[in-house]
Amino acid sequence: LSADEQQVIDRIEEEGIDFLRLQFTDILGTVKNVSIPASQAEKAFSEGIYFDGSSIDGFVRIQESDMRLKPDPATFAVLPWRTSNDGSAGAARLICDVIDTSTGEPFEGDPRYVLKQAIDRAADLGYTVNAGPEPEFFLFEEDEDGNATTRTNDAGGYFDLAPKDLATDIRRDIIFGLEEMGFEVESSHHEVAEGQHEIAFKYDDALSTADNIATFRAVVRAIAAEHDLHATFMPKPIARINGSGMHVHLSLFTEDGENAFHDESDEFNLSEVAHRFVGGILKNAPAITAVANPTVNSFKRLVPGYEAPVYVAWSDVNRSALIRKPAARSPPASRIELRSPDPSCNPYLALATMIHAGLDGIENEVSCPDPVRENIYEFDEDKRAEYDIDTLPSNLGEALEALEDNEVVTAALGEHVTEKFIEAKTEEYDEYRAEVSDWEREKYLETF
Ligand code: GLU
Ligand code: MG
Ligand code: MG
Repeated sequence: LSADEQQVIDRIEEEGIDFLRLQFTDILGTVKNVSIPASQAEKAFSEGIYFDGSSIDGFVRIQESDMRLKPDPATFAVLPWRTSNDGSAGAARLICDVIDTSTGEPFEGDPRYVLKQAIDRAADLGYTVNAGPEPEFFLFEEDEDGNATTRTNDAGGYFDLAPKDLATDIRRDIIFGLEEMGFEVESSHHEVAEGQHEIAFKYDDALSTADNIATFRAVVRAIAAEHDLHATFMPKPIARINGSGMHVHLSLFTEDGENAFHDESDEFNLSEVAHRFVGGILKNAPAITAVANPTVNSFKRLVPGYEAPVYVAWSDVNRSALIRKPAARSPPASRIELRSPDPSCNPYLALATMIHAGLDGIENEVSCPDPVRENIYEFDEDKRAEYDIDTLPSNLGEALEALEDNEVVTAALGEHVTEKFIEAKTEEYDEYRAEVSDWEREKYLETF
């Protein structure tokens, strides 16, 4: 075993861990768990744990179904809400890479591998990628049978303080839980909508951030459930109020730890590299949307008027743009905020597409348009044409078409993931198109 692996084995003993949850993520972003007794940890590190990949969404064809999980010792974290009978910590997670047993190579359908490829491309250019997410979610009451409702348990508004923000206690529990797991929570607050919350974590390297997002959703749901509440990351659970986004802050650092996005001589404190990175993301934005906003419901959020982006533009001042340059607390903290992603996305794939698009901008010296400083929601079509502002896809079908036609983003995902992703999502969209909604019945049943 490596020194890191041995350290994990030691901690398992010290903390009295009984079970290890080996986790990986399928193409659709669902976290999969294989639970093993702690006594198997050494074997898991030395030989890996074999599983049948054919039962995992979009993973492999039946005839080539053998996969092996290789736990990454850097991802060891004790799960705070599972204690064993004697009060010691009960379970810990380890996030795994997926190995194709027929070749012994990383499995190209593993989203974590897809992200690693993006990180490697950045490294070849001399950069590490930092990412900081701001997932938003709703807390809803459960009914008598324990099923989720869309009733909120508070009537707070943005940054409201107790006693209105009754969810403060729950949010504090969630944050304690996350901190116990090694998350650095940067801020947490009540969001604009009733029952809506945001927990932002401190930026980290892109891989750790994706691992954290994958775990985050499960932690939040488990702790909310202890309070008899349902936490949902559905992008737009209620019409006509704000939906839940997951803004992603991005920056590139050089090998000697300098922020490659920062340039004091620039009007926006953004370097040439940052401008090109923004140019690359804007250029590929419609295709990225398919991955960063991958559900039918995602597109109910991307409509004007609810602080979610609709138009392909960047800005240093307003929140209606797709990319915002946040005011840096300390000058070298220059970064960009991509505002389209929502928390239903697969964090590995979403980050991989953004990084590749940005790096493509750098490599091909894509030029960055001027920032738009007005409220773009209020622009009419003529004004948008005058500013040359594109619109994001308006539904999942359009987004999938944009993805299919985009070489940069499909290359970012790789052939296997692109094919399986488009196949699964096309099916989802077709299923939706065949449905008849309450809205339609209310509108038309008696009119026609
Ligand atoms: N909830 C908004 C969204 O859908 C974002 C609000 C904010 O600026 O934090 O993206
Ligand atoms: Mg927010
Ligand atoms: Mg934000």
